[in-house]
Amino acid sequence: MSVSQIIRLPPLPSIRDLIKLYKLRAMKELSQNFLMEPRLISRIVRSAGSIKDCEVCEVGPGPGNITRSIIQNMPSRVLIIEKDKRFTPSLELLAESSPVPLELIFGDVMNFNLEQMFNEDNKMEWEDKCPQIHLIGNLPFNVSTPLIIRWLKAISERKSAWRYGRVRMTLTFQKEVAERMVAPIMTKERSRLSVMCQNWCRVEHKFNIPGRAFIPKPNVDVGVVRLTPLKKPIINLPFDIIEKVIRSVFSYRQKHCIRGVETLFPKPVREQLASELLIAAAIEPSTRPFQLTVSEFGRICEAYMSICKEKPDYMKYNYREQKSDENWPDVKINNSDSSENI
Ligand code: SAM
Repeated sequence: MSVSQIIRLPPLPSIRDLIKLYKLRAMKELSQNFLMEPRLISRIVRSAGSIKDCEVCEVGPGPGNITRSIIQNMPSRVLIIEKDKRFTPSLELLAESSPVPLELIFGDVMNFNLEQMFNEDNKMEWEDKCPQIHLIGNLPFNVSTPLIIRWLKAISERKSAWRYGRVRMTLTFQKEVAERMVAPIMTKERSRLSVMCQNWCRVEHKFNIPGRAFIPKPNVDVGVVRLTPLKKPIINLPFDIIEKVIRSVFSYRQKHCIRGVETLFPKPVREQLASELLIAAAIEPSTRPFQLTVSEFGRICEAYMSICKEKPDYMKYNYREQKSDENWPDVKINNSDSSENI
């Protein structure tokens, strides 16, 4: 018999009734879509793995439907972060009847530092097994994608929740985004997000939820993804450099990768340095970005860093912001093949 079959919460109004009672009409501005199907709700929670005796932080609980299922799995403690205060009565009712401590925090998860949120006793060494801490959330799509990038940066720096070790995340995304997160090389879904996620995490696309399971129904389907931070990232370099290189290379997804690599450098030196970089990285310039493995991206990052070591100004170069590359300072190339002072 599973834990969720044993634990019964004291009688509570159904989520559907609570939504009616407190007139919790979903707000379009907050992209609120409530999941009403109990079978799918408990499947999201089960996707996290066993959460019994774990600390669970749920982001975007809304009226508390996923929260109920989390509680039924008997974690040691539940923290919920919700932006919309209209859910206060519904969540307080749940907190009162919960057999496990349930703490409500009202705020924007995007500005939230999880650094001091959990019990120090649950802290694990990074190389050890994952701590008894889980992050779970069915967030709006416009929040979940920027949030995962923010959290990948925190993972790379072992900050926020990742001060406690390799904390696992179970989150929902638009189905197409979930497919990109797990996409292997050579697929049409392979993108910047695939390389970013796979560099720091083991990414599992657990299952999809049809849009019709939500009220109101979104125009898209939803993918549930579990991310487990890797003991060692594939590219072990600063986040900002990795992010910049991946973004630049994917800026011309269908073209040869040299085209994207060129955008790392100011116009006068672009072609030459991009060729030199790819020679140093042992990458064929005609490879397309979606054909490159995470390790190959790592070699591009290393080669980029060693060029920037010679000329630190290149690190600051931003292709999109650069109005006039002619004004870029000191672009003289010290190379016997090129005697031009550009
Ligand atoms: N968990 C509920 C469910 O599955 O039915 C509600 C999901 S609804 C898609 C997303 C929830 O996230 C809403 O309750 C919304 O108010 C909340 N939310 C949106 N942006 C947020 C943010 N930046 N920080 C915290 N909560 C947020």
